[in-house]
Amino acid sequence: METKDVGDEAEQIVRALSDGLTTPHEVECLVCYLNRMMTEFGCDGTLRFARRFRDERAPRATGLEARLEGMGGFCDCEVLFNAYAPARHLWTPEHWSVDDDGEPVLVEEAEPETIPACAGVTRGSSQPCRNWERARRW
Ligand SMILES: [Zn+2]
Ligand SMILES: [Zn+2]
Repeated sequence: METKDVGDEAEQIVRALSDGLTTPHEVECLVCYLNRMMTEFGCDGTLRFARRFRDERAPRATGLEARLEGMGGFCDCEVLFNAYAPARHLWTPEHWSVDDDGEPVLVEEAEPETIPACAGVTRGSSQPCRNWERARRW
């Protein structure tokens, strides 16, 4: 019977796959990485992906968690929600449009629906790339 081996092999493949998927890209910044991980895997209520980024890419950033928590990021999704926001130049600015009746309506500024590919940071940096800025709401 080969069932045990097949099971072990499948498990290894899954593990290898998820390892690859959760590895930060070359020059990918912390915040783009977290954004990608939240889309793929969601938040488990901890800074697990921030820690993984630090361990993989910026091992000297030992104060990273304290810094993120200081900005309201007590877990990975809160870093995206509280600490950083999409940079200004990615937003759709407030503008005038027309509604179905042809009446002018003021459309409020809107956050980008998708963030462009990471603009890149130097290896070892735990700073965001220019896709992000410190959130104003905190
Ligand atoms: Zn969270
Ligand atoms: Zn980035």
